[in-house]
Amino acid sequence: MSRQTNNNKARGHTPTGSTGANPTNNDLATLFECPVCFDYALPPIMQCQSGHIVCSFCRPKLTMCPTCRGPLGNIRNLAMEKVASTVMFPCKYSSTGCAQTLLHTEKGDHEETCEFRPYCCPCPGASCKWQGNLEQVMPHLVHQHKSITTLQGEDIVFLATDINLPGAVDWVMMQSCFGHNFMLVLEKQEKYDGLQQFYAIVQLIGTRKQAENFAYRLELNGHRRRLTWEATPRSIHDGVQSAIQNSDCLVFDTNIAQLFADNGNLGINVTISMC
Ligand SMILES: [Zn+2]
Ligand SMILES: [Zn+2]
Ligand SMILES: [Zn+2]
Ligand SMILES: [Zn+2]
Repeated sequence: MSRQTNNNKARGHTPTGSTGANPTNNDLATLFECPVCFDYALPPIMQCQSGHIVCSFCRPKLTMCPTCRGPLGNIRNLAMEKVASTVMFPCKYSSTGCAQTLLHTEKGDHEETCEFRPYCCPCPGASCKWQGNLEQVMPHLVHQHKSITTLQGEDIVFLATDINLPGAVDWVMMQSCFGHNFMLVLEKQEKYDGLQQFYAIVQLIGTRKQAENFAYRLELNGHRRRLTWEATPRSIHDGVQSAIQNSDCLVFDTNIAQLFADNGNLGINVTISMC
C-alpha cells in the first residue's frame, strides 16, 4: 500500500488521483472550510466586513467574526456562492473511507445514504443515542440492551405480550439465521383519539446490499384467518422509522389485532429466506 502511494507521489499524482478528484478542486474546497467547525460553508455564504466566511450552522451562535473579531453583519458573498456551485466537495465521511467528491447540491443526499455513515442503535424509539460501525452493533445490543431475547432459526414466532397496553409501545426481538442477525420490531402508535395502529417490520443488522439477499414474511394466523406481508428486510443503516411512516411494513389496527390475539398476546410468525 505505502509503496503504491510513494510511486504515485513520484509521478506527481496525489493519492486520491485514482478517484478522479482534481487537486485544484480539493484546494478550492478548503477555501470553504468554516473556521469554527471545519465543515464547509455552503450557500447562502455570509461573510464579515473583512471578507471572512463562517458556515450557516455556526453563524447564529456567533456575535463576532471568529477570524478577525470584527462585526458579522449580514453580508452575502455571491461570488463565493457562484464558485461553490462548481466545486467538488469531499463527502462528510471521507475520514472514515468515502472517496466520493460531490457538488454541494448533491452532498446532503449522498451523505444520507453514504455507506461510510456511522450506524445508529437499531432499537426503536430515540432513547439510545449510540453510534458506531457495523461490527460494533451486535456487541452494543448484547451489552446495552440485555432484555432483548434472541431466537435461532429462519422460522420463529415473535410473541408480543400485553398488546392492549395504552399509548405507544415497542416490542423488539432478535432472530438469528443464515449467519446473520435480524431485529424484529412491532410498534404501536396512537394515530389520533381511539385509533391505534400496529406496524411490524424486520431489519437486518447489516448493510443495504446484504439486506437485498433476504426476504421476510410476517404472518398473523389463527381463528380461521390469515394476514401476510412479504418484503425485503431493511438495513439498520436506513432504520425502520421511514418505512413505518410510509406504511411500508405489516400494518394493522387494534380490531385486526384482536382477531388474532389470545388473552392480549399476539403471535407473529416470522419467516426469513434467502433470495
Ligand atoms: Zn461552522
Ligand atoms: Zn473577519
Ligand atoms: Zn460518502
Ligand atoms: Zn442502543
